[in-house]
Amino acid sequence: GSTIGIIGGGQLGRMLAVAAARLGYRTVVLEPQADCPAAQVANRQITAAYDDPAALADLAASSSVITYEFENVPVAAASALAAKVPVYPPARALEVAQDRVDEKTFLNGIGIATADFHAVDNDDELAAALKASDGSGILKTRRMGYDGKGQRVFRNMEAGGFAGTCEAMGNVPLILESFVPFECEISVIAARGLDGAVVAYDPAENIHRNGILHTSTLPAAIMPETAQAARTAASKILAALDYVGVIGVEFFVLADGSLLANEIAPRVHNSGHWTEAACVVSQFEQHIRAIAGLPLGGPDRHSDCVMENLIGDDVLRVPELLAEPDLMLHLYGKAEARPGRKMGHFTRIRRRAS
Ligand code: ATP
Ligand code: MG
Ligand code: MG
Repeated sequence: GSTIGIIGGGQLGRMLAVAAARLGYRTVVLEPQADCPAAQVANRQITAAYDDPAALADLAASSSVITYEFENVPVAAASALAAKVPVYPPARALEVAQDRVDEKTFLNGIGIATADFHAVDNDDELAAALKASDGSGILKTRRMGYDGKGQRVFRNMEAGGFAGTCEAMGNVPLILESFVPFECEISVIAARGLDGAVVAYDPAENIHRNGILHTSTLPAAIMPETAQAARTAASKILAALDYVGVIGVEFFVLADGSLLANEIAPRVHNSGHWTEAACVVSQFEQHIRAIAGLPLGGPDRHSDCVMENLIGDDVLRVPELLAEPDLMLHLYGKAEARPGRKMGHFTRIRRRAS
């Protein structure tokens, strides 16, 4: 059989490697950290930096198709690989998702609404941006942020009280987003095949704790029109990027049921982990099917469920969780339970979907 190359060796890479193995593929993982979660189940690890030329040449020579499990893969590395072997999702998707200003500009450009935003490079621009958004908003790093890191909330900030903010945030390019008074947050996991076919799972309702996803609940408590609008927006994004693979799209739901897109993740997504327990074809298998040129599976959900992350010491709950009959547990093989570290997740099946 053929070999799938995976850039990134975290839990998402691990779950992709498991899905690939189930479909008869071998996997090779590029990851600098030895004995990473993905390498524990992959056929081989190339232990090197993501932009190491020799490692990239090895990965290209070993793989019939290459994918990735995180959105901060260097675009130059993805483009160099793509000259030799198909790389999915396409490098353009990486580019758009790596910068919050580019991301929102892209989304607005295809008719998908987002929070209002201003690019901010210094304290003067921050002052102007805050003034333009009634003194409140969320300041984020444009690049590299995840799990709510690199974010700062401003509420009714008095002019001048924020001197030094840009330096405190590392003098990197920033974005000020208007604060969205959302009713709830949802995400859609969707996939596009090599032939352009698209499937979208039902939107999950997501609750965050300390900036990290805590639970994803199915079904989301939203109107059918809202769910449909989210699926339609995801399909639009996939088509516009000539995308292949699975994407995660996060939305804010407003009181009137309308949506603002928050961000896109050009990969399998934590809020889609429930699919492995409540759908016949999980997001991981769907992604492997898409990039391998296989037909996509159906996105239907056979059960209602709640997925919950196990962060840090939450893993101590494993014995009691295993005592529950309708619970699927997934651990990532990480030895050390550091605070804030994603150690695993579980999905509780509630009842058959109606
Ligand atoms: P991840 O990639 O892990 O989802 P992130 O670091 O990219 O997280 P965001 O998704 O941008 O961060 O924001 C994290 C959370 O902060 C959101 O899910 C939401 O709860 C809140 N948040 C972010 N931006 C806004 C906003 N403009 N208005 C209101 N709440 C927001
Ligand atoms: Mg993000
Ligand atoms: Mg997010």
